[in-house]
Amino acid sequence: MTAQPRRHRETHRSARTGWLRAGVLGSNDAIISTSSLMIGVGSSTTSEQAILIAGVAAVFAGALSMAVGEYVSVSAQRDTERADIARETHELATAPEAELQELAGIYARRGLDKELAMQVAVQLSERDRLGAHLRDELGIEHASLARPFQAAWISAASFALFALLPILGLVIAPASLRLGSIAVVTLASLAGLGALGGRLGGASMMRAALRVTVGGALAMAVTAGIGRLLGVAVG
Ligand SMILES: [Zn+2]
Repeated sequence: MTAQPRRHRETHRSARTGWLRAGVLGSNDAIISTSSLMIGVGSSTTSEQAILIAGVAAVFAGALSMAVGEYVSVSAQRDTERADIARETHELATAPEAELQELAGIYARRGLDKELAMQVAVQLSERDRLGAHLRDELGIEHASLARPFQAAWISAASFALFALLPILGLVIAPASLRLGSIAVVTLASLAGLGALGGRLGGASMMRAALRVTVGGALAMAVTAGIGRLLGVAVG
């Protein structure tokens, strides 16, 4: 009696925070790629202008590539959904009896006995026949139909927003501490967002923060090493 409402509430919470958690996890890309590029360039030159240009270029390149990538992948998903809906609509129009049997079969496989499965199939079909087939046969919810433009601009905007953090680390620092400042701002941002992501996912905040911080530190160390080697070799 007490367990059920509580369980319902938790399910609800996880559905609502899903997109937020995805955004937090995606922000790692923006922070790590921008800071690594800036530190790589900064290890080969002392020019603040060069480091800043590298950072700004990283923001635009990353945001645009996120937008294009997301648009292409979500468009492909939407095309598949549209084709599925068209095929299902056609089947419902040409073979309604077979489709009803098919739907009842799906409910029977989920554990309802045969008669009840048919009753459920009939009643759900009366309300929204296409909707029932899309949801239970193909796993498509009307509300969740893929939206390529929305996915594209949201991922571009969130990339750009988070990629500004390492640039902030550059502009607030005195000349002698530039790279250290970028690294500190980057690691602090990663730790904070990692902990937040862990909390939203119901996992350990400490472990989530540590994982992404170590990953970010490694990425910056590698590009710093490469930048130094290239700076010596080319310069
Ligand atoms: Zn069907």
